[in-house]
Amino acid sequence: MILPVLLKDSYGRAIRDLRISITDRCNFRCFYCMPQEAMEWKPKPEILTYEEIIQLAEVFVSLGINKLRVTGGEPMLRRDLESLIERLARIEGVEDLAMTTNAHFLRGRAKALKDAGLNRITISLDSLTPDRFALLTGRNELTQVLDGIDAAIEAGLSPVKINSVAMRGINDDQAVDFARFAREKGVHVRFIEFMPLDNGKVWRREMVVPGEELRRRIDAVYPLERVKSENLSETARRWRFADGAPGEVGFINPVTQPFCGHCSRIRLTADGMIRTCLFSAVEHNIKQLLRDGASRDELIDFIAAVVEKKEDRHHINDPEFVQPLRTMSCIGG
Ligand code: SAM
Ligand code: SF4
Ligand code: SF4
Repeated sequence: MILPVLLKDSYGRAIRDLRISITDRCNFRCFYCMPQEAMEWKPKPEILTYEEIIQLAEVFVSLGINKLRVTGGEPMLRRDLESLIERLARIEGVEDLAMTTNAHFLRGRAKALKDAGLNRITISLDSLTPDRFALLTGRNELTQVLDGIDAAIEAGLSPVKINSVAMRGINDDQAVDFARFAREKGVHVRFIEFMPLDNGKVWRREMVVPGEELRRRIDAVYPLERVKSENLSETARRWRFADGAPGEVGFINPVTQPFCGHCSRIRLTADGMIRTCLFSAVEHNIKQLLRDGASRDELIDFIAAVVEKKEDRHHINDPEFVQPLRTMSCIGG
């Protein structure tokens, strides 16, 4: 069913995509996301319940949102996730229900998630070697993640997408290995440019590896052909293998080739704040409104007014750029 476009920002962009973070907690400590020292989690009463998430998601979907992505923190840490997925999938108007996970807990649950109504899955993986994986995530658990990827493929959560944050001198030498992995597994590997959204304030411009540089390196070994997409709001520039091998590689280049002009995304944080941009300096407290007993119309008016104020773009490349206070694991990537 095609719903009318109801949510538009002041730049005329239609908002179709809601990312729902369901927890700020995580069992990994990826250094580009979390601090290495103990993180202070939000107290449980501040976190949206499944009831509240469903209630809000229904309102968002009634306003033309048709893509939902469940994320975190690590969403699979939340108890009985399958029941949330099942209820989100049942909302009329949801055309695409996806989840981003570190896949540590995926083996044994991928099939149940698919059966609950999950359409697609994105798995984060930044290195294919155990030592480097441990260095990047703070956990020596590459085997479980590779197992989780296999489980997702077996469950038919296709296409399985792999997100890999490329960082100069840390894992950028593995681009061709990742392309080989895409071919062998038939998955879509997407290289993401490192963004200044890390909690440890380690981001430096010199660490950003332009996606185009990685593409050229891969193309020299496995010639690539552009995959044309009709979807302007798609974040990845996609390429298939010219020799017809399965799998794809994609490049998400927010720093060197920003795609804000076609952004269709807003976010709901685990503690019930709407963020209209990854780099928002302000958040909008819809949880308070909901808990104060706001009517459906009041929620709609609030959302419409918030979307109207969506930022035109990020300012990573401007000299006055200031990193947002909340970082990726709290925002919901
Ligand atoms: N824990 C889940 C996972 O890792 O897939 C979901 C949440 S995680 C915050 C979502 C995505 O954000 C991951 O693919 C991760 O690689 C990406 N991410 C986190 N910090 C980032 C950063 N500083 N720059 C670019 N991507 C980042
Ligand atoms: Fe956890 Fe995902 Fe952040 Fe890694 S990227 S620390 S798995 S939330
Ligand atoms: Fe959208 Fe903000 Fe990301 Fe740009 S930086 S693509 S406006 S969320």
